[in-house]
Amino acid sequence: MSRIIMHIDFNSYFASVEQQANPHLRGKAIAVAGKAGGDINRSVVTTASREAKARGVKTAMATWQAKKICPELIIIPSDPQKYGDITARLLTVCRKYADDLEQFSTDEVFIDVTGGAGNYFGASMMALMIRRDLKTACGSVCTVSIGIAPNKLVAKLASESVKPNGLTVVRPSDVEDFVKSRPLADFCGIGPRMEKRLAEIGVTSVATLRTLPRAQLINLFKSYGTWLADAAHGLATDVLEDDDAAPKSIGHSYTFPHDPHTIPEVKKNLLAMCDRVAWRLRGQHFVASRVSVYVRYGDFGSDGCAKLLNIPISDGLTISQNAWALLSPRLDLNRGVRLIGISVSDFKTIKLPVSLFRKDRRMQRVVVALDRVQTKFGQDSWHRASTTPLPDGLSHGFVTN
Ligand SMILES: [Mg+2]
Repeated sequence: MSRIIMHIDFNSYFASVEQQANPHLRGKAIAVAGKAGGDINRSVVTTASREAKARGVKTAMATWQAKKICPELIIIPSDPQKYGDITARLLTVCRKYADDLEQFSTDEVFIDVTGGAGNYFGASMMALMIRRDLKTACGSVCTVSIGIAPNKLVAKLASESVKPNGLTVVRPSDVEDFVKSRPLADFCGIGPRMEKRLAEIGVTSVATLRTLPRAQLINLFKSYGTWLADAAHGLATDVLEDDDAAPKSIGHSYTFPHDPHTIPEVKKNLLAMCDRVAWRLRGQHFVASRVSVYVRYGDFGSDGCAKLLNIPISDGLTISQNAWALLSPRLDLNRGVRLIGISVSDFKTIKLPVSLFRKDRRMQRVVVALDRVQTKFGQDSWHRASTTPLPDGLSHGFVTN
């Protein structure tokens, strides 16, 4: 099922907070710069108010330069405590509506509202309620732009597209067209340097980016090329990273450098991912009762399904066996598998399930020992023999443990 992600972004954040706090500053060209006690005339603009932006004042501009183009500009020293307080209110309001929340910066959050909103209409209504609650919590001068889309990448592009105070909804069926209409510089992940490199190879728009073969992008930019090829179509498997709350799901996805057409290739990578997921799961002392798999094909079609288990699990092999049992009957290898994703959810907190069977107890000891190795030497310190890369041209029967 497609996710519904909302990106909420304060407009001209620090400047709006200052205008909210001081009515005399409202409607005026102001810029927040430097910090209290510092020489603000020798610093740079952190945020310009809407009125100052209209006069050409930009972020990172030297204050003397900003004053030159806008002589009536009022420069206010930065007051982090004030902004921190409003950020905390933003988070409190958003948490009320979010299945999952990621604070992206001081004035931006992503929330997953897939479960809470149910559909895109519900999400639009929710956005209006969030805006109402924020007005009560933070004041009417602090406005937000909101974007709603199937992933973080497009949600951020959407909120960016109408400022200030916009609400932009991009349903899955509109993603291709919407993304095409956006300038490359607006993509979170395409900075000025990458924009320049792309321009050097003739890519100045999403439309031209789409004309480049995926293989060429990967050749030029390695794994970033994969990201670019997907981003050109508004595709991303970005997950919300919630620092505060316990996660509701733990997942991992893998994009193949080429579209594989063989079962061993898919199965091998699935197992390797499940080992990683399992390690993160055990790191939080969780066992999971739900396994979900997701596949995306070379033709951009996708499929996914989930299963509730009777006995919660926490080891990579069992997760992988369940995932494969779900995936294999519906896998269409003729379409070429571009990406596979796995996630586990429905957690219970437990140290380790106590098993009555001797074979399982032995396996648990192995898992505990491997976790110690991984904790000490890092995530990639061990892997199963069956997940080692196959040398070119060599294939062997797949061993599952
Ligand atoms: Mg902002």
